Amino acid sequence: MLTQAPRGTRDILPDQVYKWNYLEKIFRDICGSYGFEEIRTPMFEHTELFKRGVGDTTDIVEKQMYSFDDNGGRNITLKPEGTASAVRAFVENKMYSNVQPTKLFYITPCFRYERPQAGRLRQFHQFGIEVFGSSDPLTDAEVIGVAIDFFNKIGIKNLELRINSIGCPDCRNQYREALRSFLSDKLEGLCETCKGRYDRNPMRILDCKSEACRQKVQGAPKMIDYLCEACRDDFNSLQDNLSTMNIDFVIDPDIVRGLDYYTKTAFEIISNEIGAQGTVCGGGRYDNLIEELGGPSTPGVGFGMGIERLILTLEKNNIDIPKENLTDVFVAVLGEESKKAGIKILKELRCNGIKGQMDLLGRNLKSQFKYADKLNAAYCIVVGEEELKENAVLLKDMRSSEQEKIELSEIIDVIKKRL
Ligand code: ATP
Ligand code: MG
Repeated sequence: MLTQAPRGTRDILPDQVYKWNYLEKIFRDICGSYGFEEIRTPMFEHTELFKRGVGDTTDIVEKQMYSFDDNGGRNITLKPEGTASAVRAFVENKMYSNVQPTKLFYITPCFRYERPQAGRLRQFHQFGIEVFGSSDPLTDAEVIGVAIDFFNKIGIKNLELRINSIGCPDCRNQYREALRSFLSDKLEGLCETCKGRYDRNPMRILDCKSEACRQKVQGAPKMIDYLCEACRDDFNSLQDNLSTMNIDFVIDPDIVRGLDYYTKTAFEIISNEIGAQGTVCGGGRYDNLIEELGGPSTPGVGFGMGIERLILTLEKNNIDIPKENLTDVFVAVLGEESKKAGIKILKELRCNGIKGQMDLLGRNLKSQFKYADKLNAAYCIVVGEEELKENAVLLKDMRSSEQEKIELSEIIDVIKKRL
């Protein structure tokens, strides 16, 4: 127990973390190029926020939340997704009174009590973006554009963008009735959770992961055939915009998405190479969520992208991520005087933005060179007692093994030029 991380969690070790930093940097850059600003919200919120914001007939709320009472008796939940918190912050901080739309991005851990497997963890991480305040389908296309640009930039291929429209409360009422009558003689075969959803929210049954329910919904009517005129127009306009942006897509009438407050656009970006958990990015429009959470009526659209699944996809694509070198220069010393001078040189190097290290284990000179090699240092500064008397050091090029004597006062400049 003591030496084992909880099931469904993972350490991101130093030999992996460079991938995360690389992806985060690209994500930030692309968001920046679209005018998104970063928001950081707390790791936990009042449970009520997610019940309302995700919807209490969803898998997340019904089965997956990490909820507990804190010492003050508040019911708290570790964030299972990012949208509800972003909306809460938007409303609480009256961001709706700024110039609109509000374009936010975040990088956040999420917590869901699920059965861990490849691409499915209990603590996972998301890149997310949200746009509040625009109902123009161009906004939906821009949101999708951020994700597509991101994938292109890191060189992931073989992804499929699937889009759908899940309508608005107007057209959905009619669709719900059609769905209920389709399911009315199949109720017995549904899982227990879905039996309860039949009256409350039958569309949720379409998204159920249980095999029995999946069978039963085969051949069910599709929302896309019940869209009202406004929803149909917006869906067409989204497709036009995507085509203008040269973004390929397929229409997938089976996408419902896991959150209750989605309206109109729903989309997923799938990798066919990482097995059953292939959805790397999912998002859509949620025009009623902000009002549902106590804000002024404001449309919204966004996505969440699973970073662990993203990394699995990278690995399947054999994409090499640049790994930054830890050490530019190793300072090798012999003896006390040399060590003191070495410490000073090291400080100068670091002040000048050069990555420097020296031995901390009392190694002899030969082992220091070996260690410098292991650290992949490009240069070694050898602080010899003899050279020190002349205010000089030896500079060894670790690749060619050539050495030359350099004035102490010039060493930083020389290294800067060569690196
Ligand atoms: P799934 O259908 O795979 O359960 P979801 O619909 O629950 O996904 P969202 O709530 O839309 O997922 O979350 C957005 C993204 O976050 C997903 O597309 C996926 O990449 C990632 N994700 C969701 N749940 C997990 C998890 N338990 N572990 C790792 N990544 C996850
Ligand atoms: Mg899920």
